[in-house]
Amino acid sequence: MARSVHVARLYPEIGQLERLNTQGHATRALWNLLHEWHLMCCEHRRPMLGWPEIDRQVKAARRDPPEGFEWLAKLPAQACGAVVKLYVAAWKRCYSGHARPPRFKSRHRARMAIDIPQAPDFRVVRLNRRWGEFTVPMVGRIRFRWTKPLPGVTRTVPGRLTGARLVHETNGWHVVFRIETPDVAPPERSASAVGIDRGVTHTLALSDGTFRDMPKLLSDSEAKRLLRLERKAARQRRSRPKNQPTSNRLNQTYDQIAKLRARAKRRRDDWIHQTTTEITREFGAVAVEDLKVQSLTRSARGTVAEPGRGVRRKAGLNRAILGMAWSQIGEHLDYKTTRTGGVLVKVPAPRTSQRCHACGLVDPASRRSQSLYVCTNCAWSGNADTNAALNIVNAAGLAVSGRGGSRVAEACEAPTTRRAA
Ligand SMILES: [Zn+2]
Repeated sequence: MARSVHVARLYPEIGQLERLNTQGHATRALWNLLHEWHLMCCEHRRPMLGWPEIDRQVKAARRDPPEGFEWLAKLPAQACGAVVKLYVAAWKRCYSGHARPPRFKSRHRARMAIDIPQAPDFRVVRLNRRWGEFTVPMVGRIRFRWTKPLPGVTRTVPGRLTGARLVHETNGWHVVFRIETPDVAPPERSASAVGIDRGVTHTLALSDGTFRDMPKLLSDSEAKRLLRLERKAARQRRSRPKNQPTSNRLNQTYDQIAKLRARAKRRRDDWIHQTTTEITREFGAVAVEDLKVQSLTRSARGTVAEPGRGVRRKAGLNRAILGMAWSQIGEHLDYKTTRTGGVLVKVPAPRTSQRCHACGLVDPASRRSQSLYVCTNCAWSGNADTNAALNIVNAAGLAVSGRGGSRVAEACEAPTTRRAA
């Protein structure tokens, strides 16, 4: 069984939105209640109860809420149980050394989420080409954007929905459907191979001589606005008296910053999805540099913060986005190659930028500039990132064949002929 998720944006009506928000806050409040109780147990050295017992007590409190806890009744029983389960799981992860201990969830910082673990209650229906609808307990039927065929609704799609989670992002509520699909043998693939160099000048340089560049994530005016808001937040932080809670104005500024960053993130994710899908459709075997090794070699040759390119004030954010993009691209390529019957090879390939892919000579002098590579030994010349990508495909032991090969030849010849002309 292969597990995946599908995210769709929800379009609740006003009354529904209110109920969703109430549930979201109640989920958070329940988490905080559990945490407070746990801390109290620790403080008084009382043993913690097992989670079935906690679950039982919370459910009893939900049915007949004591004074001051009326909000518990506004939470569906399923969601209530899920919070307890998640809280216990958080401690388990902490004890096993995989995460930090759980903390209180703040009203402003924490992302609201409501679990709907039981799929039979959804009754997902496709209304028309663009809209779908499903049931949220104690809220009702909510419409969502239909962007992908779902199992159990579209007949041709195998698998089933196993649960869902409602998540509040800066642009509203979304539903995350959990999907289980039966394992099917992937189709036979042609052996066309490609090496990919993840870099700064070009987000992705392919060994066939082409590039995939991430577009600017924020327009100039959006970037300017972000900078202005960040300065404003810094000013508001400075003027805040010590030991005072964050002011409403500062929280408002944080919200505006979060909205812009989330917009950039959505654009980035969209580009990554489209690009990796396109690459895995075109090539059967994909080779990338092992990221840990790569980050080391990158900082050594100092191309991460390439001076003179881009505006410095944006460099921090851009670098962060790029850094995340590199690993995300790796993850996407991984599962997409598996799904399409291809293969992803991760290779430690040190000095990819200095080695000539044609003769194998490592000579820093061969790299004439950020983009131009001219081998001092065999006189191969071409784009430096393409050369790096070719090194990666060589290191992975993948033969560049067919269409890829011919384009490699073109890519190598193009710059030289142009210079000669
Ligand atoms: Zn050479």
